[in-house]
Amino acid sequence: MAETAPRGTRIDHIGIAVSDLDGLFPFYRDVLGLTEIPLDDADGARIAGLAAGESKVELLEAMTPDSPIGKFVAKRGPGIHHVCFAVDDLEGTLARAKAAGIRLIDEVPRLGAEGKRIAFLHPASTAGVLIELSEH
Ligand code: ZN
Repeated sequence: MAETAPRGTRIDHIGIAVSDLDGLFPFYRDVLGLTEIPLDDADGARIAGLAAGESKVELLEAMTPDSPIGKFVAKRGPGIHHVCFAVDDLEGTLARAKAAGIRLIDEVPRLGAEGKRIAFLHPASTAGVLIELSEH
């Protein structure tokens, strides 16, 4: 029962686009003391996950220049790529975003990593921050 109880919106992970994943990983693990979580590669990116309490940091390195992360780094350089909020009600949150005039990248949820349902909001509507929504 506890798993289905509403938990409230929280930061699930912060996705950081990097150009040298292997070089940067030890900073997060050894200096900041985060714990590695194995994550599958996705969307043409190598992904290294690290636990920061209930939240995660995902380091994203493009495997090809024409992948989403490759294009992002080419245009803007390495940096924060997206923030993911886990919400209790993904459809409801999408409906509220749409009603509030927020531009949606995904009108309906799609399957993301680890089989979770996710949806993205367009950064043009959110002060330049690509926002990912996922279900708990
Ligand atoms: Zn993400």
